[in-house]
Amino acid sequence: MAGEAVRVAICGIRGRMGQEILLGLSGDPEVTVVGGCDPRPRNDADPPSVIPITSALEDLLDVVQPEVAVDFTTAEAARSNALTALSHGLPIVVGTTGLSDTDLDEIDALTRESGVGALVAPNFAIGANLLLHFAKIASQFFDAAEVIEIHHDAKIDAPSGTALMIARQMREARGRPFAGDNVSKYVVEGARGGVYEDLHVHSLRMAGFVATHEVIFGGTGQSLTIRHDSIGRDSFVPGVQYAVKHMRGVVGLVRGLDEFMGLA
Ligand code: NAP
Repeated sequence: MAGEAVRVAICGIRGRMGQEILLGLSGDPEVTVVGGCDPRPRNDADPPSVIPITSALEDLLDVVQPEVAVDFTTAEAARSNALTALSHGLPIVVGTTGLSDTDLDEIDALTRESGVGALVAPNFAIGANLLLHFAKIASQFFDAAEVIEIHHDAKIDAPSGTALMIARQMREARGRPFAGDNVSKYVVEGARGGVYEDLHVHSLRMAGFVATHEVIFGGTGQSLTIRHDSIGRDSFVPGVQYAVKHMRGVVGLVRGLDEFMGLA
């Protein structure tokens, strides 16, 4: 009902992101976190939870009636939680990364069968989604562009999924190649970074950063730099808040927060 707080269940509530989302949503008067699920046992040092927490989403839905589920778990668990939620007619907001195209197609089909929505977004930082949008516009006007991403030193993959998504969508928005590369003599191998199609992508890994994405454009007598920094996990909370409040009435799978925000 309009005006009432949105009832939310959090899958992966004992994880790093689950805890961050719980904290962020709990301070929002327009949202009520009604429960969570996570197979990870409660840490003895933690106080008992004031909301029900079950091991599996299926069991949680026997005791609470959320209007939206939020998932920050693992790719395998997120797929299964999405299918459970949607088969109960429950919309779901998925932040978990690593779902395959097949998983997404399966989720999309079930949303249409159930008449509800799902949002799967690899990056919930609103600023990162705006960067993507601005970079797509600039790609049409600047012939030279390179992508730089910087992450904490525990990140095992490179480049980041977000950097790859930025490169791919910049290339699609441009619709023609970027300026070529004249370097033919490599003094240090790999000095020009990795290449996605014709876009150079540079990955930096070091303490002191959470997630930074930067796109530098070069043109005649000018350059344009667009940069976004996530300096903590709380940077992902406002995007999730926005999503859970706007899921009512959505039918089908929305891929990416940019598309959900009407930027794509
Ligand atoms: P994490 O700390 O390992 O937390 C994941 C939690 O999910 C763990 O407590 C895990 O329990 C639990 N879990 C596993 N299977 C489950 C199931 N079937 N139902 C409910 N909970 C289940 O990981 P994290 O750092 O929070 O990251 C979670 C995901 O979010 C990752 O895919 C990460 O890449 C993604 N992420 C996305 C964004 C974004 O903006 N979209 C931002 C940050 C992170 P066990 O430990 O017992 O398995």
